Amino acid sequence: MTEETRLIHSGLAQTPLARTVGPPIQRGSTVLLPNAAALYDHEAQVTYGRQGLAAQSALIAALAELENAQGVTLYPSGLAALTGALLAVLKSGDEVLVVDTIYKPTRRFCDTVLRRFGIGVRYYPASLDAEALMAACGPATRLILLESPGSLSFEFQDVPAIAAAARSRGLLTLIDNTWAAGLLFKPLDHGVDISVQALTKYVGGHSDVFMGSAAVAEESLVRALDDGVLNIGWAVSPDDAYQMLRGLRTLPTRMARHDALARRLATWLALREEVGQVLHPALPGAPGAEIWRRDYSGACGLFAFTLAPGKPHATAAFLDALQVFGLGFSWGGFESLAIDCDPQLSGRLSPDAYGGPLIRLHVGLEDPDDLIADLERGFSAWRAAF
Ligand SMILES: *Cc1c(COP(=O)(O)O)cnc(C)c1O
Repeated sequence: MTEETRLIHSGLAQTPLARTVGPPIQRGSTVLLPNAAALYDHEAQVTYGRQGLAAQSALIAALAELENAQGVTLYPSGLAALTGALLAVLKSGDEVLVVDTIYKPTRRFCDTVLRRFGIGVRYYPASLDAEALMAACGPATRLILLESPGSLSFEFQDVPAIAAAARSRGLLTLIDNTWAAGLLFKPLDHGVDISVQALTKYVGGHSDVFMGSAAVAEESLVRALDDGVLNIGWAVSPDDAYQMLRGLRTLPTRMARHDALARRLATWLALREEVGQVLHPALPGAPGAEIWRRDYSGACGLFAFTLAPGKPHATAAFLDALQVFGLGFSWGGFESLAIDCDPQLSGRLSPDAYGGPLIRLHVGLEDPDDLIADLERGFSAWRAAF
């Protein structure tokens, strides 16, 4: 053979690979099959790299363990997991009932894409109980979309009751469970059909990788979601899957610290005169506290509080004075972040429900005294802005 051919066929993958702690990062679109019969035997083995290779398979197995799932599908972002799971199970003529406190990009997808494809979309308040929600269902209702707690205003839904009621009527339930990261709350154990999370947040944990997952317990849904991914053509890279798996190893350890620090800050905030209410479920009497105590094994680092009513520019003065908290969207990483939520509340059924500017904090893994000193700085600037 000439050098051209020899260079193309030398240095190819060797088997078996040395055994490392993590999976190999296999890069491949082409998968070489052992013989002609195997080319079209898609049941027996992976025949094309888009289906995912060693790193993706390892991540899927670990997430199935986390979610107590029969099947897990991966998507290139959390939003893609939500939209992908919806597209996999809905058809033209169906209707979805969507919780009003849903993540805003999910709402945008429902309002634009689902409606364009002839799927009805109606919003319901997060406070609606299972019975009232069932009464709100119409003949075309096919799926109930939950997000508990809402990721800006932290309303908790009675997920087990809603899931049971929906199942008895033959309706599907899908939850955005990003806040609990699959760790603090196990939707499939509580009768939810499809548990979605943005792995981008706590599983990744380092604010540098996008990915989403949908986990299901029933065989027919496993098939439906797998087909959905195959039909639309999503794929995630082996490098990203490896990073997610790495994050997953320390998820419980990191989460315990996020939880402890966030509770400390929430308790401190609740005593401040600059603060209206603190929306953290571990505070006595907080909205959703009872449901959270019953269903969740802990809390994460994400919660919100309202500033006492003040001049409009005082909110910006508070945020601009922060030096340890970064100003930025996303959460679940090692770093603390703050945003004002009010611009995202427009379009909700009741956008003014909180009695003051709503500030969301993500409490990272820093020293809590430094974080409290930073909030003190913010409050000084807030007072000076009057
Ligand atoms: C961030 C987020 C998503 C979307 O995740 P991406 O990976 O950014 O697409 C979905 N739901 C919630 C609650 C989120 O916070």
